[in-house]
Amino acid sequence: MYPRAVAYTRARSVPEALETLATYGPDACPLAGGMSLVPWLKYRQRSPGLLVDVGRLAELAGIEPGDGPLRIGATTRHADVAVWRDAVALALLPELAAGIGDVQVRGMGTVGGGLAAVEPTGDWGGALLAMRGSVVARSVSGERRIASDDFFLDTYRSSLRPDELLTEVLLPVPSERFGTAAVKLDKRAAAAPLMSCAVRIDLDATGSVREAGVGCVGLAGYPVRLGEVEAALRGASCTPEAIGDAAACARDAADDAFAGSVLTKLVRDALGRASERAQRLEAVA
Ligand SMILES: Cc1cc2nc3c(=O)[nH]c(=O)nc-3n(C[C@H](O)[C@H](O)[C@H](O)COP(=O)(O)OP(=O)(O)OC[C@H]3O[C@@H](n4cnc5c(N)ncnc54)[C@H](O)[C@@H]3O)c2cc1C
Repeated sequence: MYPRAVAYTRARSVPEALETLATYGPDACPLAGGMSLVPWLKYRQRSPGLLVDVGRLAELAGIEPGDGPLRIGATTRHADVAVWRDAVALALLPELAAGIGDVQVRGMGTVGGGLAAVEPTGDWGGALLAMRGSVVARSVSGERRIASDDFFLDTYRSSLRPDELLTEVLLPVPSERFGTAAVKLDKRAAAAPLMSCAVRIDLDATGSVREAGVGCVGLAGYPVRLGEVEAALRGASCTPEAIGDAAACARDAADDAFAGSVLTKLVRDALGRASERAQRLEAVA
């Protein structure tokens, strides 16, 4: 199938991109890496009249650690996150990015595009939920933050308005006693994962879990948080038994027994790895 004829413009700055989106309304569509959008155009799953290329806006690229949340620019490539090694506690970021698609997809695809696409198996969604992160959305009328729980509305549908650009992803980094991990079920070459799971464990001074985040993709049409697993972890010690018990709560989130047992294993593996990292950092703190 051929795509509908579409006009193209390359934005030279964020304000220029926002002006164009505001002028053309829903007929315009941001283009970042094109790794999802181009196939959608081919299948006429999307048929915009104008593509606004924001993929090479350097002002939207990069990872900025600081005193506040970690900031990841929307046009940061998966490949750049895959080699980011600044914070042991945030190991889930390179872990997750390194497993996305193949070298070409990682070199072209962006973090912002991965979130805005809301694909059923878009890995970044699980990480955003697990980290209780948020995204910054900008339009000509201003800027707003959208919390992870409010971002994913349905398959291929986020709470971004057509005139908004996702400019940044903000990930809170709560304490030194903090571990994260990402695990995926991915047996096919260069394809999206069947299921993946991103987790975060935040320990209190006694080494018990103060807060946990568990985000999964591949269960529903969009990323979901596993609230029951998070609740089971709160206050628990980080023993393999406690982690196994909490992970078992994931089973009911899946449609059938097989998917439930796969999910339980993914969650258990990710939690085990995150808790090991949190305890390693606790020993250093
Ligand atoms: C073979 C293959 C394997 C893949 N494997 C994986 C995988 O394992 N895990 C995974 O998570 N993904 C996978 N993907 C998807 C890939 O990660 C894409 O890069 C990602 O989904 C979209 O990012 P993009 O920058 O290419 O966005 P685009 O394709 O350019 O855009 C996707 C959507 O997001 C919108 N958009 C893009 N940027 C913005 C922005 N800044 N603000 C507002 N809207 C925006 C576009 O308008 C469009 O609707 C795979 C893709 C392919 C082709």
